[in-house]
Amino acid sequence: MLNMKKNILFLSLIILLSIASGSCKRISNKNETKEVILASFTVLADIISNIAKDDFIVRSITKPGVEVHGYQPTPSDLVNASSAFVFIDNGFGFELWAEKFVSNLKVKRITVAEYLDPIFISEDFYKGKPNPHAWISPKRGILYVDIIVDSLSELRPSKRTLFEENGKIYKDKLSKIDKEFSLFINNLNKDRRYLVSCEGAFSYLTNDYGLKEVYLWPVNAESQITPKSMARTISLVKEKNVPSVFCESTVSNESQMVVANETGANFGGSLFVDSLSDDSGPASSYMKMLEHNLELIKKGLF
Ligand SMILES: [Zn+2]
Repeated sequence: MLNMKKNILFLSLIILLSIASGSCKRISNKNETKEVILASFTVLADIISNIAKDDFIVRSITKPGVEVHGYQPTPSDLVNASSAFVFIDNGFGFELWAEKFVSNLKVKRITVAEYLDPIFISEDFYKGKPNPHAWISPKRGILYVDIIVDSLSELRPSKRTLFEENGKIYKDKLSKIDKEFSLFINNLNKDRRYLVSCEGAFSYLTNDYGLKEVYLWPVNAESQITPKSMARTISLVKEKNVPSVFCESTVSNESQMVVANETGANFGGSLFVDSLSDDSGPASSYMKMLEHNLELIKKGLF
């Protein structure tokens, strides 16, 4: 019954917002009026902020630290979305909620994955589906910048030069971390090139830089470890003498601690993938997230 009441409230809001959305696309901020760009998750919002800078207001539907795949949008998310002129999502099935969410809004939509080459998941229930976490590789992060610069420029042609200039400065910074990843892994003993994580979220990173990926479950939305997957991970960590295993910030470390205890490997800490940290955390921006991940991987594998 409670759910039904919630649904009715949600639907009423959708109807009200559909009527209102045409008239409130701009947010007044003291003396200036800025348009709102809405991202599905914090990593994307930060990339967009580096391209749009102070000329736009950029917001994320999901907040720092929140699990994104299976997120349930709230009525206040719809209110936020109604003031935006564009909704930008990752795609490749990352935001399981995005399709329904956007169908209730009159906003433009940019889905980054439509312009990317996927790596497909090879195991379990998700076999054959694209792995959504392309941004985890700095090389692909640079492509995200190009895609967002082009797509936003089509929607707001008068801002093209601004988007391109900001995008170039940001890509130069991403190129530096791209080179640092390459340098570290090229110098890493081949026997140590295993990245063991909770979620199979590192395929683009491991593929682009020459690591082998091992994980407990393919996608966080189904973060149930199976005995088979646990046994396979333990056996590989033992056999290959993997020095450290990792987990991610939006899920529990518990299962990976079992792997560490059973094998004698170190627990290398929490990598960030699906969500940034808040401002006081180690991954408050996409750049900081990449730097934090590189530092943990360096410490754990070297
Ligand atoms: Zn994920």
